[in-house]
Amino acid sequence: MDKSISRRSALQGLIGLPALGAAVLSAGAPARAGSSKAAVKYQGSPKNGQQCSGCRFFKAAKDPKANGTCQIVDGSISPNGWCIAFAKK
Ligand code: SF4
Repeated sequence: MDKSISRRSALQGLIGLPALGAAVLSAGAPARAGSSKAAVKYQGSPKNGQQCSGCRFFKAAKDPKANGTCQIVDGSISPNGWCIAFAKK
């Protein structure tokens, strides 16, 4: 009888593992999608000679003077902007 209970407990534990894994993955998804401007202290002007147009994460628009996008920061990004994640091209 005890073996039956422990086997059932073990099976219930195994059944719960995939659900836990799915919960962890779904909780982590928003963090991978992109950082908010606030989280990376984004500003619309250059800092110490660094700006988004010179950053490896910047994706310029067709018009280089227009706002583009960033691979790691959400939203419209000015080519003259800057954030703490700046990485020179
Ligand atoms: S990582 Fe920061 S500095 Fe680089 S393009 Fe994105 S917002 Fe601009």
